[in-house]
Amino acid sequence: MLLPLLGLVVGLAVGSFLNVVIHRLPIMMEREWAAQAAEMKGDQVPQQEPLSLAFPGSRCPSCGHKISMAENIPLLSWAWLRGKCSACATAISVRYPIVELMTGIAVAYCAFRFGATLAGAGAAVFLCALIAACFIDFDTQLLPDSITLPLLWLGLVVNIPGTFTDLQSAVIGAVAGYLILWSVFWMFKFATGKEGMGYGDFKLLAAIGAWTGWKMLPLVILASSVIGAIVGVLMIVLASRGRDVPIPFGPYLAGAGAVALLWGEPLTREYLKLIY
Ligand SMILES: [Zn+2]
Repeated sequence: MLLPLLGLVVGLAVGSFLNVVIHRLPIMMEREWAAQAAEMKGDQVPQQEPLSLAFPGSRCPSCGHKISMAENIPLLSWAWLRGKCSACATAISVRYPIVELMTGIAVAYCAFRFGATLAGAGAAVFLCALIAACFIDFDTQLLPDSITLPLLWLGLVVNIPGTFTDLQSAVIGAVAGYLILWSVFWMFKFATGKEGMGYGDFKLLAAIGAWTGWKMLPLVILASSVIGAIVGVLMIVLASRGRDVPIPFGPYLAGAGAVALLWGEPLTREYLKLIY
Protein backbone atom coordinates (compact mmCIF):
# COMPACT_ATOMS: atom_id res chain seq x y z
CA MET A 1 0.00 0.00 0.00
CA LEU A 2 3.05 2.24 0.09
CA LEU A 3 2.93 3.05 -3.62
CA PRO A 4 -0.75 4.20 -3.70
CA LEU A 5 -0.07 6.32 -0.62
CA LEU A 6 2.90 7.91 -2.36
CA GLY A 7 0.65 8.37 -5.40
CA LEU A 8 -1.91 10.18 -3.23
CA VAL A 9 0.69 12.63 -1.88
CA VAL A 10 2.19 13.28 -5.33
CA GLY A 11 -1.31 13.59 -6.80
CA LEU A 12 -2.38 16.18 -4.22
CA ALA A 13 0.68 18.28 -5.05
CA VAL A 14 0.04 17.89 -8.80
CA GLY A 15 -3.60 18.86 -8.18
CA SER A 16 -2.41 22.05 -6.51
CA PHE A 17 -0.40 22.81 -9.67
CA LEU A 18 -3.41 21.95 -11.87
CA ASN A 19 -5.38 24.66 -10.04
CA VAL A 20 -2.77 27.15 -11.23
CA VAL A 21 -2.93 25.74 -14.79
CA ILE A 22 -6.75 25.90 -14.82
CA HIS A 23 -6.71 29.49 -13.61
CA ARG A 24 -3.79 30.90 -15.59
CA LEU A 25 -3.59 29.04 -18.90
CA PRO A 26 -6.74 30.67 -20.36
CA ILE A 27 -5.53 34.13 -19.23
CA MET A 28 -2.14 33.47 -20.84
CA MET A 29 -3.86 32.36 -24.08
CA GLU A 30 -6.11 35.42 -24.18
CA ARG A 31 -3.14 37.74 -23.62
CA GLU A 32 -1.24 36.06 -26.43
CA TRP A 33 -4.19 36.50 -28.81
CA ALA A 34 -4.58 40.15 -27.79
CA ALA A 35 -0.86 40.72 -28.38
CA GLN A 36 -1.01 39.02 -31.79
CA ALA A 37 -4.09 41.01 -32.80
CA ALA A 38 -2.45 44.27 -31.70
CA GLU A 39 0.71 43.38 -33.61
CA MET A 40 -1.24 42.67 -36.80
CA LYS A 41 -3.10 45.96 -36.54
CA GLY A 42 0.23 47.71 -35.92
CA ASP A 43 -0.86 48.88 -32.47
CA GLN A 44 1.32 49.01 -29.39
CA VAL A 45 1.30 45.63 -27.64
CA PRO A 46 -0.22 46.27 -24.18
CA GLN A 47 2.35 46.05 -21.39
CA GLN A 48 1.19 43.80 -18.56
CA GLU A 49 2.68 42.19 -15.53
CA PRO A 50 4.36 39.03 -16.84
CA LEU A 51 2.40 35.86 -16.10
CA SER A 52 3.46 32.24 -16.53
CA LEU A 53 2.57 28.99 -14.82
CA ALA A 54 5.53 29.38 -12.46
CA PHE A 55 5.63 33.15 -11.84
CA PRO A 56 4.50 35.12 -9.96
CA GLY A 57 3.60 33.06 -6.87
CA SER A 58 -0.08 32.53 -6.05
CA ARG A 59 -1.99 35.47 -4.66
CA CYS A 60 -5.45 36.04 -3.24
CA PRO A 61 -7.47 37.23 -6.26
CA SER A 62 -9.38 39.62 -3.98
CA CYS A 63 -6.71 41.45 -1.93
CA GLY A 64 -3.42 40.37 -3.55
CA HIS A 65 -2.17 38.72 -0.35
CA LYS A 66 0.77 36.47 -1.25
CA ILE A 67 -0.03 32.83 -0.48
CA SER A 68 2.76 31.53 1.76
CA MET A 69 4.18 28.01 1.61
CA ALA A 70 2.23 27.07 4.74
CA GLU A 71 -1.00 28.34 3.15
CA ASN A 72 -0.32 26.36 -0.02
CA ILE A 73 -0.45 22.80 1.32
CA PRO A 74 -3.06 20.83 -0.63
CA LEU A 75 -6.38 20.21 1.23
CA LEU A 76 -4.90 20.95 4.68
CA SER A 77 -4.40 24.69 4.18
CA TRP A 78 -7.90 25.13 2.83
CA ALA A 79 -9.35 23.26 5.83
CA TRP A 80 -7.03 25.13 8.24
CA LEU A 81 -8.07 28.52 6.82
CA ARG A 82 -11.72 27.32 6.78
CA GLY A 83 -11.88 28.28 3.10
CA LYS A 84 -11.02 31.94 3.68
CA CYS A 85 -8.09 34.17 2.76
CA SER A 86 -5.96 34.76 5.89
CA ALA A 87 -5.62 38.48 5.08
CA CYS A 88 -9.05 39.61 3.84
CA ALA A 89 -11.29 36.63 4.74
CA THR A 90 -12.69 36.44 1.19
CA ALA A 91 -14.01 32.92 0.57
CA ILE A 92 -11.66 30.62 -1.33
CA SER A 93 -13.61 28.45 -3.75
CA VAL A 94 -14.22 24.87 -2.61
CA ARG A 95 -13.14 23.91 -6.11
CA TYR A 96 -9.46 24.21 -5.19
CA PRO A 97 -9.51 21.36 -2.65
CA ILE A 98 -11.89 19.40 -4.91
CA VAL A 99 -9.41 19.53 -7.83
CA GLU A 100 -6.59 18.55 -5.46
CA LEU A 101 -8.57 15.64 -4.05
CA MET A 102 -9.67 14.43 -7.51
CA THR A 103 -6.07 14.48 -8.74
CA GLY A 104 -4.80 12.80 -5.57
CA ILE A 105 -7.34 9.97 -5.84
CA ALA A 106 -6.69 9.59 -9.59
CA VAL A 107 -2.90 9.20 -9.19
CA ALA A 108 -3.31 6.93 -6.13
CA TYR A 109 -5.69 4.71 -8.10
CA CYS A 110 -3.26 4.48 -11.05
CA ALA A 111 -0.47 3.46 -8.65
CA PHE A 112 -2.76 0.89 -7.00
CA ARG A 113 -4.06 -0.51 -10.27
CA PHE A 114 -0.93 -0.54 -12.46
CA GLY A 115 1.94 -0.27 -9.95
CA ALA A 116 5.24 1.40 -10.85
CA THR A 117 4.92 0.68 -14.57
CA LEU A 118 4.69 2.64 -17.80
CA ALA A 119 0.93 2.03 -17.74
CA GLY A 120 0.71 3.48 -14.21
CA ALA A 121 2.68 6.62 -15.05
CA GLY A 122 0.89 6.98 -18.39
CA ALA A 123 -2.61 6.62 -16.93
CA ALA A 124 -1.75 9.18 -14.22
CA VAL A 125 -0.56 11.73 -16.81
CA PHE A 126 -3.66 11.06 -18.95
CA LEU A 127 -6.02 11.62 -16.01
CA CYS A 128 -4.23 14.80 -14.82
CA ALA A 129 -4.41 16.30 -18.32
CA LEU A 130 -8.12 15.41 -18.55
CA ILE A 131 -8.84 17.07 -15.19
CA ALA A 132 -7.15 20.31 -16.34
CA ALA A 133 -8.92 20.22 -19.73
CA CYS A 134 -12.29 19.49 -18.10
CA PHE A 135 -12.22 22.48 -15.74
CA ILE A 136 -10.73 24.91 -18.27
CA ASP A 137 -13.44 24.02 -20.80
CA PHE A 138 -16.13 24.30 -18.12
CA ASP A 139 -14.92 27.80 -17.14
CA THR A 140 -14.02 29.27 -20.51
CA GLN A 141 -15.36 27.00 -23.31
CA LEU A 142 -11.75 26.64 -24.41
CA LEU A 143 -9.73 23.45 -24.79
CA PRO A 144 -6.11 24.61 -25.04
CA ASP A 145 -4.00 23.11 -27.84
CA SER A 146 -1.14 23.13 -25.34
CA ILE A 147 -3.00 20.34 -23.49
CA THR A 148 -4.82 18.38 -26.22
CA LEU A 149 -1.99 18.14 -28.77
CA PRO A 150 0.81 16.93 -26.44
CA LEU A 151 -1.73 14.49 -24.97
CA LEU A 152 -2.33 13.11 -28.46
CA TRP A 153 1.39 12.61 -29.24
CA LEU A 154 1.97 11.14 -25.80
CA GLY A 155 -0.86 8.64 -26.31
CA LEU A 156 0.74 7.39 -29.52
CA VAL A 157 4.19 7.12 -27.87
CA VAL A 158 2.84 5.32 -24.77
CA ASN A 159 1.21 2.73 -27.02
CA ILE A 160 4.37 1.93 -29.04
CA PRO A 161 4.96 -1.09 -26.75
CA GLY A 162 1.18 -1.73 -26.69
CA THR A 163 0.63 -0.34 -23.19
CA PHE A 164 -3.13 0.26 -23.42
CA THR A 165 -3.77 -0.82 -27.00
CA ASP A 166 -1.63 -1.72 -30.02
CA LEU A 167 -0.02 1.12 -31.98
CA GLN A 168 -2.18 0.54 -35.06
CA SER A 169 -5.38 0.85 -33.03
CA ALA A 170 -3.98 4.00 -31.34
CA VAL A 171 -3.22 5.71 -34.68
CA ILE A 172 -6.65 4.82 -36.08
CA GLY A 173 -8.19 5.97 -32.80
CA ALA A 174 -6.55 9.40 -33.09
CA VAL A 175 -7.59 9.92 -36.71
CA ALA A 176 -11.11 8.52 -36.26
CA GLY A 177 -11.65 10.49 -33.04
CA TYR A 178 -10.91 13.74 -34.85
CA LEU A 179 -12.91 12.91 -37.98
CA ILE A 180 -16.04 11.70 -36.17
CA LEU A 181 -16.61 14.97 -34.30
CA TRP A 182 -15.43 17.00 -37.31
CA SER A 183 -18.17 15.33 -39.41
CA VAL A 184 -20.80 15.85 -36.70
CA PHE A 185 -19.75 19.52 -36.50
CA TRP A 186 -20.21 20.11 -40.23
CA MET A 187 -23.47 18.14 -40.49
CA PHE A 188 -24.86 20.15 -37.56
CA LYS A 189 -23.66 23.37 -39.14
CA PHE A 190 -25.24 22.59 -42.51
CA ALA A 191 -28.48 21.53 -40.85
CA THR A 192 -28.89 24.37 -38.33
CA GLY A 193 -26.38 27.04 -39.33
CA LYS A 194 -24.99 26.92 -35.80
CA GLU A 195 -21.70 25.68 -34.45
CA GLY A 196 -22.47 23.06 -31.81
CA MET A 197 -18.93 22.45 -30.61
CA GLY A 198 -15.40 23.67 -31.07
CA TYR A 199 -12.28 22.34 -32.77
CA GLY A 200 -10.85 21.68 -29.31
CA ASP A 201 -13.43 18.91 -28.88
CA PHE A 202 -12.17 17.14 -32.04
CA LYS A 203 -8.59 17.34 -30.77
CA LEU A 204 -9.58 16.06 -27.33
CA LEU A 205 -11.38 13.03 -28.79
CA ALA A 206 -8.37 12.43 -31.09
CA ALA A 207 -6.14 12.40 -27.98
CA ILE A 208 -8.51 10.02 -26.16
CA GLY A 209 -8.55 7.74 -29.22
CA ALA A 210 -4.73 7.71 -29.26
CA TRP A 211 -4.68 6.49 -25.64
CA THR A 212 -7.58 4.02 -25.68
CA GLY A 213 -7.56 2.82 -29.30
CA TRP A 214 -10.39 3.18 -31.81
CA LYS A 215 -12.52 0.40 -30.30
CA MET A 216 -13.30 2.60 -27.27
CA LEU A 217 -14.56 5.54 -29.36
CA PRO A 218 -18.20 4.36 -29.53
CA LEU A 219 -18.25 4.03 -25.74
CA VAL A 220 -16.69 7.48 -25.26
CA ILE A 221 -19.12 9.17 -27.66
CA LEU A 222 -22.16 7.33 -26.30
CA ALA A 223 -21.31 7.98 -22.64
CA SER A 224 -20.41 11.65 -23.14
CA SER A 225 -23.49 12.37 -25.27
CA VAL A 226 -25.90 10.69 -22.85
CA ILE A 227 -24.43 12.42 -19.77
CA GLY A 228 -24.11 15.69 -21.69
CA ALA A 229 -27.75 15.55 -22.81
CA ILE A 230 -29.00 14.77 -19.29
CA VAL A 231 -26.93 17.55 -17.69
CA GLY A 232 -27.87 19.95 -20.49
CA VAL A 233 -31.61 19.36 -20.02
CA LEU A 234 -31.25 19.62 -16.23
CA MET A 235 -29.42 22.91 -16.58
CA ILE A 236 -32.09 24.37 -18.86
CA VAL A 237 -34.91 23.14 -16.60
CA LEU A 238 -33.44 23.68 -13.13
CA ALA A 239 -31.11 26.63 -13.63
CA SER A 240 -33.36 28.14 -16.31
CA ARG A 241 -30.25 28.45 -18.38
CA GLY A 242 -30.98 29.75 -21.85
CA ARG A 243 -31.07 27.22 -24.66
CA ASP A 244 -28.58 29.32 -26.60
CA VAL A 245 -25.96 29.41 -23.85
CA PRO A 246 -23.27 27.03 -25.10
CA ILE A 247 -22.77 24.00 -22.88
CA PRO A 248 -19.17 22.80 -23.12
CA PHE A 249 -18.80 19.24 -24.37
CA GLY A 250 -15.19 18.85 -23.22
CA PRO A 251 -15.93 17.91 -19.57
CA TYR A 252 -18.15 14.99 -20.70
CA LEU A 253 -15.58 13.83 -23.25
CA ALA A 254 -12.87 14.01 -20.58
CA GLY A 255 -14.95 12.03 -18.08
CA ALA A 256 -15.89 9.40 -20.65
CA GLY A 257 -12.26 9.18 -21.82
CA ALA A 258 -11.07 8.46 -18.27
CA VAL A 259 -13.73 5.75 -17.84
CA ALA A 260 -12.81 4.22 -21.21
CA LEU A 261 -9.10 3.96 -20.41
CA LEU A 262 -9.64 2.49 -16.93
CA TRP A 263 -12.76 0.34 -17.36
CA GLY A 264 -13.50 0.39 -21.09
CA GLU A 265 -12.82 -3.27 -21.76
CA PRO A 266 -15.04 -4.82 -19.05
CA LEU A 267 -17.78 -2.27 -19.82
CA THR A 268 -17.77 -3.06 -23.54
CA ARG A 269 -17.72 -6.80 -22.83
CA GLU A 270 -20.75 -6.59 -20.53
CA TYR A 271 -22.56 -4.36 -22.99
CA LEU A 272 -22.01 -6.78 -25.87
CA LYS A 273 -23.22 -9.65 -23.66
CA LEU A 274 -26.45 -7.72 -23.06
CA ILE A 275 -27.06 -7.34 -26.78
CA TYR A 276 -26.38 -10.91 -27.87
ZN1 LIG B 1 -7.34 38.08 0.41
